Amino acid sequence: MRPEVLYPLFAPLTELPGIGPKHASTLENLTGPHIAGLLWHLPSGLIDRRYAPKVADARTGVVATITLRVGKHRKPSNKRMPYKIYCSDDTGTLALVFFHAHPDYLLKTLPEGELRVVSGRIDKFGDEIQITHPDHIGLLEDLEKLKAVEPVYPLTAGISLKVMSKAVRGALDCAPDLPEWLDPAFQKKQRWMPWRQSLLMAHDPGEEADLQPTATARTRLSYDELLSNQLALGLVRLNLRRTAGKGIKGDGHLRAKVLEALPFKLTSSQVQALADIDGDMVSGTRMLRLLQGDVGSGKTVVALMAMLTAVEAGTQAVLMAPTEILARQHFATLQPLTDSAGVGIALLTGREKGNARKDILAGLAGGDTQIAVGTHALFQDDVDFKNLHLAVIDEQHKFGVHQRLNLANKGEAVDVLVMTATPIPRTLMLTAYGDMDVSRLLEKPKGRKPVDTRVLPLDRLQEVVAAVSRVLDAGAKAFWVCPLIEESEVIDVAAAEDRYDHLKGVFGNHVGLIHGRMKGPDKDAVMDSFINGPVNILVATTVIEVGVDIPAATIMVIEHAERFGLAQLHQLRGRIGRGKTASTCLLLYAPPLGELARARLSIMRETEDGFRIAEEDLRLRGAGELLGTRQSGLPEFRLADLTVHGDLLKAADDDAKLILQRDPDLTSERGQALRTLLYLFERDAAVKYLRSG
Ligand code: ADP
Ligand code: MG
Repeated sequence: MRPEVLYPLFAPLTELPGIGPKHASTLENLTGPHIAGLLWHLPSGLIDRRYAPKVADARTGVVATITLRVGKHRKPSNKRMPYKIYCSDDTGTLALVFFHAHPDYLLKTLPEGELRVVSGRIDKFGDEIQITHPDHIGLLEDLEKLKAVEPVYPLTAGISLKVMSKAVRGALDCAPDLPEWLDPAFQKKQRWMPWRQSLLMAHDPGEEADLQPTATARTRLSYDELLSNQLALGLVRLNLRRTAGKGIKGDGHLRAKVLEALPFKLTSSQVQALADIDGDMVSGTRMLRLLQGDVGSGKTVVALMAMLTAVEAGTQAVLMAPTEILARQHFATLQPLTDSAGVGIALLTGREKGNARKDILAGLAGGDTQIAVGTHALFQDDVDFKNLHLAVIDEQHKFGVHQRLNLANKGEAVDVLVMTATPIPRTLMLTAYGDMDVSRLLEKPKGRKPVDTRVLPLDRLQEVVAAVSRVLDAGAKAFWVCPLIEESEVIDVAAAEDRYDHLKGVFGNHVGLIHGRMKGPDKDAVMDSFINGPVNILVATTVIEVGVDIPAATIMVIEHAERFGLAQLHQLRGRIGRGKTASTCLLLYAPPLGELARARLSIMRETEDGFRIAEEDLRLRGAGELLGTRQSGLPEFRLADLTVHGDLLKAADDDAKLILQRDPDLTSERGQALRTLLYLFERDAAVKYLRSG
């Protein structure tokens, strides 16, 4: 249960001053549904209104707060002209300028002959000194209040700075004093103020330096956020470890059969990873291992071998993929191999329905099916296993932590192997997995040829089509990737459908189209005719990003490559270069290229090393955007910025470990405060793993 002291912060946004249902729904997209979200919405700039010159001294282009006597109102002669009010002090005259003015309002707030304090940016129009649309108009007694440094917040369409500032102030008013969760010695050493004070300071910048992520107040808040994350991960992990593993060992007979059926030998990286996994499975502790290997490094076969160990020991295993395409592809890859070993395998996705689904569920519950491949459909409540022992989760970055746990709860002491092709930098890894054990496939299967990557402007499309045409004539297959249709609000995005129509004019029915909005069976049909049938050029959105394995595909065109993130480009490119023939990747961009996009594309041209690409990505874009975090399982931090707070993360992780060593159920006084911290940052799910609530 969320501590009562936090209730006001978790009230809906409509409780805030000035926020009605309409503003609330706009604001929600920016800050989330609760008032707490506004606390983390920190200023991105400031307006210094302390400059209070006389009219004659006022510098143009600078925000000033000036005391003026209101003079004549001059109504415009036509609607396009502004309404002007001439005001003065003893040094000169200044015009207040209003477009689309409401005269009644102006006559009321700026009555002729009265003294008023006005704050806004000083401009010059010809000889006239002006303030156009002053930000504030007040009475003389408001002068000191107006002469302040005002925070500027990131905004969104429909929310003005005024509305935002008022809402944030309202949120800050809801923020209670909270019991301190920091270690007193550590806090003292860092010279950090209590939470609430730090929060108020972060929202009240006095100078530019206070806006930096390294400013004291912001650093403390970032640390809090990181600590809550690492603590939550630690709790999850502790919970998994509490239920001891069963310790199973295979006799190798199924593995031997499959190894024989494979057309290749395992790389030494694969052999090593398997040894790590076997070691975990035999031990009495539950396995919680990450198998990290760049695209094409051969993770699937490692998963299969691990699953066979589970089967040899008389238990069941699941392999879960993030998309249906991928689940089907895994099933298609694995079935012949498991058949050769006489192992029962079934596919379960959202599409298996009715009696077919019933049969599959019966197979899993009865134990005839020893390996299940599927999507998150495997999580559903009515899916029961007779004796599930191993869960392999592929391309993990698409799943959240909760889903991972959900699956692990389907059996007793399930061993968990998470596989990711996303080369997560060390810093990020710590935030996503805590200290999960890691095996890496550093070596790629032999015989891979490097992909020749070229960067071209979109206006050379004709040449590109000609080049693709030549490659197809030689019997190869091509991917043609277009940016997401969901982003079609950007008018100039070449929607996959348009490109498909265009290419059909050139290649006729050798062109296929696949995108996320198509129905499952239609996707299957297209994939099937790309793999086996007449289609040899597949126009696709990023649905093909993850995992798709078609060795005959040796050319990839990516349109508007400048719109993709580095990690995504790397994932996409990983679809080619899997066979024995050399592959080419053509990155098409719409000029002019921004600096960031240029840097991204040149990294793509320089290297295929996923780790290097990930590090560069982190450097270029910051952790939040890396991997397109929204759909990734990586935590999104609102305050912490891992490009600058790497050391802070390390400290938070050490802190969390120590806390859980000393007080694993968070029952001490500090433990109680830490519970509040977990709720504050909405890491509620972790709290349920505490033994005493
Ligand atoms: P990823 O790690 O990206 O999931 P996959 O498991 O899909 O990679 O493997 C990519 C391709 O490499 C597949 O066609 C697979 O059959 C092949 N492969 C895997 N291991 C080896 C190996 N040791 N030698 C040769 N080819 C391999
Ligand atoms: Mg894969």
